[in-house]
Amino acid sequence: MADNISSQNIDNDHRELSRRGLLFVLSSPSGAGKSTLASMLLQADDEIAMSVSVTTRAKRPGEEHGKDYYFVSGEEFEEMVADHSFLEYATVFGHRYGTPAVPVNESLADGQDVLFDIDWQGTQQLYQRAGQDVVRVFILPPTLGELRSRLDSRNTDSPEIIESRMQRATSEISHWDGYDYVLINDDLEACFAKVKQILATERMRRARQTGLIGFVRDLMAE
Ligand code: 5GP
Repeated sequence: MADNISSQNIDNDHRELSRRGLLFVLSSPSGAGKSTLASMLLQADDEIAMSVSVTTRAKRPGEEHGKDYYFVSGEEFEEMVADHSFLEYATVFGHRYGTPAVPVNESLADGQDVLFDIDWQGTQQLYQRAGQDVVRVFILPPTLGELRSRLDSRNTDSPEIIESRMQRATSEISHWDGYDYVLINDDLEACFAKVKQILATERMRRARQTGLIGFVRDLMAE
């Protein structure tokens, strides 16, 4: 699987030069604005597709199976683990979460970059499997008070869950140094501009622009 991902060469009619797809990870404690940033990015950029995770947690109001997550039983999840169906998986807040491998490979083969909303454990696993193709971005809230008020205003979780998320948030934040880029989300638009800037810059890395060799050869032959 690792080889499938890391050796993916992309030919895309929409690009002047072919480019190797990248795996763009956005992690943050819940409430730091990561989901909003992810939706904004998907809307603004048609060269990136979301990886939809599998989870054993219950569906929240408004969530859709197949769009937000694939909601499965614990048994189904463990079957997928046994079948090696996941690129990475982890236990978060007592529930199982995993990234199914097939859609990621299909997106890369279609010339799409792939966006991941996964925690630090999943990020580490992904990096171990496909390091050179992974770009890791961590989003920090400006303060913990701000984080709590964002979680409160969501109104989707009980106070006990919010409390456990606050505890989890501090533990998630302690892994900030396992990321390539760290952004403070004190202004959503400014933070989004930085996310787009990172993606645009990473796409220009020489090793990712597989079409450059031919381009430079033709250039020199003129
Ligand atoms: P939530 O239940 O609030 O949607 O997500 C809880 C946490 O699980 C978030 O930090 C999110 O990034 C993480 N998460 C969601 N999907 C995956 C996944 O497939 N793998 C891993 N490792 N973490 C995930």
